[in-house]
Amino acid sequence: MQVYADNAATTKMSEAAIRAMVPCFENIYGNPSSLHSVGQEAKEVLEDARARVAKCLGCEPREIYFTSGGSEADNQAILSAARLGQRKGKMHIISTAFEHHAVLHTLQKLEKEGFSVTYLDVKQNHNITAQQVKDALREDTCLVTVMFANNEIGSILPIAEIGAICKEAGVPFHTDAVQAVGHVAIDVKAMNIDMLSLSAHKFHGPKGVGALYCRRGFPLTNVIDGGAQERGKRAGTENLPGICGMVAALEDAYANLETNATKVAALRDKLITGLSQIPHCALNGDPVNRLPGNVSFCFEGIEGEALLLLLDMQGVCASSGSACTSGSLDPSHVLLAIGRVHDVAHGSLRLSLSEYNTDEEIDHILTVVPQVVDTLRRMSPVWRDLMTGKREFIL
Ligand SMILES: *Cc1c(COP(=O)(O)O)cnc(C)c1O
Repeated sequence: MQVYADNAATTKMSEAAIRAMVPCFENIYGNPSSLHSVGQEAKEVLEDARARVAKCLGCEPREIYFTSGGSEADNQAILSAARLGQRKGKMHIISTAFEHHAVLHTLQKLEKEGFSVTYLDVKQNHNITAQQVKDALREDTCLVTVMFANNEIGSILPIAEIGAICKEAGVPFHTDAVQAVGHVAIDVKAMNIDMLSLSAHKFHGPKGVGALYCRRGFPLTNVIDGGAQERGKRAGTENLPGICGMVAALEDAYANLETNATKVAALRDKLITGLSQIPHCALNGDPVNRLPGNVSFCFEGIEGEALLLLLDMQGVCASSGSACTSGSLDPSHVLLAIGRVHDVAHGSLRLSLSEYNTDEEIDHILTVVPQVVDTLRRMSPVWRDLMTGKREFIL
């Protein structure tokens, strides 16, 4: 049995998304900027896609800018707000300590330019409160950028409350909603969101395509310069096949949101209950406000990397921290931010589910994970020290 439980890293494409892309390769191959009929046909498909994305988010079509994915949308949103702030002499940004690197590294670059960034603490409930945002606001705050849901530990942040606070204070509000779009209901107007990033491959669409929602009137700064595509704000011939695949996946996700969320959350809860039986473990992430598909644990006395390799041999594809962190030996910044010490953070496991997972697959995971954790612990010198009392248990 092969179980794919790494949907926070990327998802399998849906049939609908694949079907929607094929005509773009076969027939609708024109360049939407071309004035002839083949180009104009592509342009019509492009604008139809824009309107459909807008409908799913509750905004106007002209507020949607297609990008190459979530990272690009994050970069553009943050840089745009920073440049606007700079022009007004406002150079303070509020964010959280557990953002995705697309946000964190952009903020670090701005800090080198002289911006000051407040990274809100996420130790309480592995989440933030809207009050923390309110308390951090300053006269010179030019942006609040707070993720909608965390990719490693699944916490869903109080976005509507934060939006209301930002609106009242007149401070632009961006949210990296890459993990939330297609999985959680979103209305950018009702939630007072000024900018929102999304990425197709996190909701069964293709890789390399995403979008930035930007409230009408907010001045975007180009990250990619060139032609006049996307109202002059994002150059480059549009990825029409990708965009068509994304729209189909997005509509599919929102048409089945309740059904999928209920199904996936039941699988998640079964996994969490089962894995909690393993001694000396801890659940990461907000236990209540949590993505339907996220299961994240730390197991004391093991190495996450070894755990992943043994699980893969048993047919379980999982992750330890984010995909980018898995390539390095530093423990995940997210796990450190929620207060896990290095040793504990190293023994992390993230299982991220989708509606394609089955009850039988959950049973398989529940058989395999406790066995593999046990095997690794019996080989571990750290575990021996814990058992003999030379070292104290943390979990
Ligand atoms: C995956 C992800 C991104 C990056 O999106 P890409 O389309 O892969 O560039 C950004 N933020 C979060 C929270 C993500 O999960």
